[in-house]
Amino acid sequence: MSKEENLECSFCGRKKAETDLLIAGVDAHICDKCIEQAHGIVEEEISEAKTSSLSKDLTLKKPLQIKEFLDQYIIGQNETKRAMAVAVYNHYKRLLQEKNSDEDVEIEKSNIVLVGETGTGKTLVAKTIAKMLNVPFSIVDATVLTQAGYVGEDVESILSRLLQVADYDVEKAQRGIIFIDEIDKIARKGDNPSITRDVSGEGVQQALLKLLEGSVVNVAPKGGRKHPDQKFIEVNTKDILFIAGGAFSGIEKIISKRLNRQAVGFGASLEEDMLDEDNLLQYITPLDLKSFGLIPEIIGRLPVLSFMNPLDAKTLRAILTTPKNAIIKQYTKLFIMDDVNFTIEEDALNYIVEKAVHYKLGARGLRSLCEAIFTDAMFDLPSSDQKELNVTKDYAEAKLSNTTLKKLRAAS
Ligand code: ADP
Repeated sequence: MSKEENLECSFCGRKKAETDLLIAGVDAHICDKCIEQAHGIVEEEISEAKTSSLSKDLTLKKPLQIKEFLDQYIIGQNETKRAMAVAVYNHYKRLLQEKNSDEDVEIEKSNIVLVGETGTGKTLVAKTIAKMLNVPFSIVDATVLTQAGYVGEDVESILSRLLQVADYDVEKAQRGIIFIDEIDKIARKGDNPSITRDVSGEGVQQALLKLLEGSVVNVAPKGGRKHPDQKFIEVNTKDILFIAGGAFSGIEKIISKRLNRQAVGFGASLEEDMLDEDNLLQYITPLDLKSFGLIPEIIGRLPVLSFMNPLDAKTLRAILTTPKNAIIKQYTKLFIMDDVNFTIEEDALNYIVEKAVHYKLGARGLRSLCEAIFTDAMFDLPSSDQKELNVTKDYAEAKLSNTTLKKLRAAS
């Protein structure tokens, strides 16, 4: 026998002649069969590691802990934080159950819909949840979506974005969170099914249904229109958590009408003076979403419904300084980088809140107001010797001329 034929696999002992391929290493050889087996072991180990890291996340975070995490970043909105904590906990519990057992009780997805004025923290809640879970997160604006075949973006483009955020790791993307903003803008016009085609409203809702309920979708990795030359990536949306948000402006009227009807119908069961007329959103039910123009199937696929409270002065004041990455904390850090000791007086903070409330700028306005007040200092101080900045109410007032305020109001 030649020396060549004497060679054998160092793992299973097969002779070279018994293998299809024998690869030489430094001091050993490995055959094609052992490579395949080893590859299988590696795959299994990786998948087990993924599952166990998922269970670790879950064992670490019960709804109470999820809520506590949200509390660090989001002021108020307790009802929504609790509802979200439970929904997210159940969602990932469902993922675990799928992997670990073959029980016949199938837990359904807990996609969420958040109703509340713009700037009340809907996106922030969704983003913070994704941050906590360390899963890919993307935001999509429902208004740019159209039914397939029409001008605009196909609903599949939602998944392209998630894939991009997940660095094209499909497994990772399939566990991500998608925030669909302005879902109210694709409501159908009127409560009756339309006779004419409604490509930007009901048509999109129909197209979204498929994604929400969970299906395998061919996604163009780079987004945009489907192109015959582009290779598709298959994405299963079964485990993607969808959070939809919208202002649903005018829905209070629908809620109020329903409540009044109930009050008449059931006599003493719902006395009008018990109602908090200033915040009717808290009484929202899926029925109101239907009256607003969401189709019942979509509502069914968004089983967790919660609302955002309007932000009052006290909340806005807290938003300025309390959250972990509060706006004022961010400015303090920026100034420290230039060795400037930045302080702001309580009066000045209250003044900012007062202006945000007066001009109805909301939480987003707080940042624009701060920007307008601090820009001069942020321009001048880095190249000056001044190492102290104490912002008083007078200072803030002086920086915020009436024209600036009008501009801010127009922009909001
Ligand atoms: P929405 O999605 O409801 O329009 P956002 O989540 O985009 O509102 O909120 C805009 C900004 O306002 C956020 O980035 C955040 O800085 C601030 N904000 C809004 N609501 C809150 C809140 N409840 N707690 C802390 N910050 C908030």
